[in-house]
Amino acid sequence: MQLKNCPECGKVFTFIRTNLCPECQKEDEERFKIVRKYIALHRGVSIGTVSEETGIKETNILRYLREGRILSGEVKQQALKCELCGVRITGGRYCESCNNKLTSGIKKVMRDENEKYLQEEANKRKGKGSGMFTADMRKKD
Ligand SMILES: [Zn+2]
Ligand SMILES: [Zn+2]
Repeated sequence: MQLKNCPECGKVFTFIRTNLCPECQKEDEERFKIVRKYIALHRGVSIGTVSEETGIKETNILRYLREGRILSGEVKQQALKCELCGVRITGGRYCESCNNKLTSGIKKVMRDENEKYLQEEANKRKGKGSGMFTADMRKKD
């Protein structure tokens, strides 16, 4: 049994599947229905607008999005936020300035990872090849 603090009301509850306590879960379902309905009627709406119009917290709507209950194609992508600085972005995970900051570092890591991967694959192929060869030889005996 796992006890958890409900992020909505702070109550301690037994964690089963959802992040929220049963009461908030029920409320959350209601909220989700409202959001779902609003988005169905206003395709491509921004999350900010959904939040304003429905009175439901943006963080909740973003959670639905993260959980895949709302598809990112159904709402305006501007609602995305940079994972590093929280600035609004139109796509991807980081804003342009964070991206620029990251790119130099990431490029190097990716290059290293790629080299490591290729090296490992080459080793695997070598090992596998000789193994298969020996197995074949044995079969013939
Ligand atoms: Zn709760
Ligand atoms: Zn950023």
